[in-house]
Amino acid sequence: MALRLGVDLGGTKIEIAVFDESGREILRRRAPTPRAGYDVALEEFSRFILDTEKEAGQRCMIGIGMPGTIHPRSGRVVNAYNTPFNGRRLKHDLEQNLNREIRFANDANCFALSEAIDGAGAGCGVVFGAILGTGVGGGIVVNAAVLNGHHGIAGEWGHTPLPWMTREEHPGPMCNCGRRGCIEQWCSGPALGREKAAHGDENALAIYADRLARALSLVINFLDPEIIVVGGGVSREQRLYASVPELLPRYVYSSVVETPIVPATHGDASGVRGAAMLWPK
Ligand SMILES: [Zn+2]
Repeated sequence: MALRLGVDLGGTKIEIAVFDESGREILRRRAPTPRAGYDVALEEFSRFILDTEKEAGQRCMIGIGMPGTIHPRSGRVVNAYNTPFNGRRLKHDLEQNLNREIRFANDANCFALSEAIDGAGAGCGVVFGAILGTGVGGGIVVNAAVLNGHHGIAGEWGHTPLPWMTREEHPGPMCNCGRRGCIEQWCSGPALGREKAAHGDENALAIYADRLARALSLVINFLDPEIIVVGGGVSREQRLYASVPELLPRYVYSSVVETPIVPATHGDASGVRGAAMLWPK
């Protein structure tokens, strides 16, 4: 039985965890994301994985979750602007270095997978994982498998405009993706922080809840998941789990809205867990 090694490759740090056959975490290591040019960064990254595997004492199946995705046809990393790997054939090169197949997925997809397999969404057929952190990401899991999509961007709901923008909101702030009014610019952790600074805690949360309800109504109308699991820093705002469901019927195309909106079970560990789960037990 092989061990599973999950990697959460972030913009500032890399976290690796190794899991035994029962899914128990046996080892966890953390290092800063290399900032050097691609070749050096690739070597450092490879060495970090191999050193961790050596500590585990056994050859591992490796899964990697990262911002952006590996484009299904070109094999190049796309949308991972804050890593030295963007635009490169990271999967191909890492597989050469480590001499094995390596599975990749977007970090929000890993989050959704971890929560769907044995977290808040366990037992649900269709799970939407919404990450409300520095950015806004989303992942879709159907019958315990990640829905990757034709371009590897399925679930990237953060880069669509906030629905039903008011006159005051329109056209919305400029987004990193080059467009205006993206959900990410309204529903991220920093966006909530800005509202709190401007309007105070209670008012800011009410404004934010309405925007999040509009954003999630898009997901419900389009995908109609059995559950929406929320992760990222904003997921710790307990009041949202009462206010957002109350607002949803205003926006969802159904008079009754029964989609549970719940916080993630595994929190920050979802990245490494979901990455390891890209390999079946
Ligand atoms: Zn955007």
